[in-house]
Amino acid sequence: MMTRPFVFGTNFKMNQTPTESAAFYEQLSASVQTPTDTHLFVIPPFTSLSAVKDVAGQPPHQIWVGAQNVHWAPDGAYTGEISVRMLLALDVDLVLLGHAERRRYFHETDVDLNRKVLAALNAGLRVLLAVGETAEERSFGVGGETVQRQLRIGLHGARPEQLGLIQIAYEPVWSIGAGGTPASPDDVEPIASLIRSGCEDLFPGSGAEIPILYGGSVDPGNAGTFTALPDIDGLFVGRAAWSVDGFIATYHAGYSGHRGVIGS
Ligand code: PEP
Repeated sequence: MMTRPFVFGTNFKMNQTPTESAAFYEQLSASVQTPTDTHLFVIPPFTSLSAVKDVAGQPPHQIWVGAQNVHWAPDGAYTGEISVRMLLALDVDLVLLGHAERRRYFHETDVDLNRKVLAALNAGLRVLLAVGETAEERSFGVGGETVQRQLRIGLHGARPEQLGLIQIAYEPVWSIGAGGTPASPDDVEPIASLIRSGCEDLFPGSGAEIPILYGGSVDPGNAGTFTALPDIDGLFVGRAAWSVDGFIATYHAGYSGHRGVIGS
């Protein structure tokens, strides 16, 4: 039977200086042991990547270092943008694409995201593709359709041999951030199951290997209720993981819920 890895991490969004991110990464690395079935990651702002690289050492990194975005072009006249080659030069392990804030405030479309996904995968860079329906889409009963569309367009053209580089974060837009309403496991499993079957459709025979993370108002108290779901393989956490203690407590709660471990 296939066992997907447990994947857990946080995105600092537009928070933290290079010094703060490096201190977080260093303290986290010193405080956490990562079992072989687990991948942890931290996604600081672009300006912190170089400082984090200095403390992370040579790859492979015990805790993956992620970037919050990338452009699809190899280089060129795109003021303010960052290329895959620039990220790889900083030993970045993963790029987050399609976060709800990028879709909402920066109008990133599914087609834009598909270009970015392919640029990253073709360079051997891991991708964390975020998908999720808005409150309005949910109210009209089309949450599942939205997520399936984001997935199908986002991963269009990815090749089966690239599948090991892909992880999906299901983040209902209505549940993330300070104004979010926490989702219940009953809200999450049906959509996670659609994502799982969507991955299988895209990569027949192997798509089920893609880890699916849940994100949205996760904290140590509810983490295990999401990771106990059959189609959830990890967590993508914001606020609750922005302190090292919070990161570790939420990770332990999620890991315990997932693997059926008692205690943390
Ligand atoms: C997010 O914004 O992606 C997120 C998961 O945030 P939070 O955990 O703070 O709801």
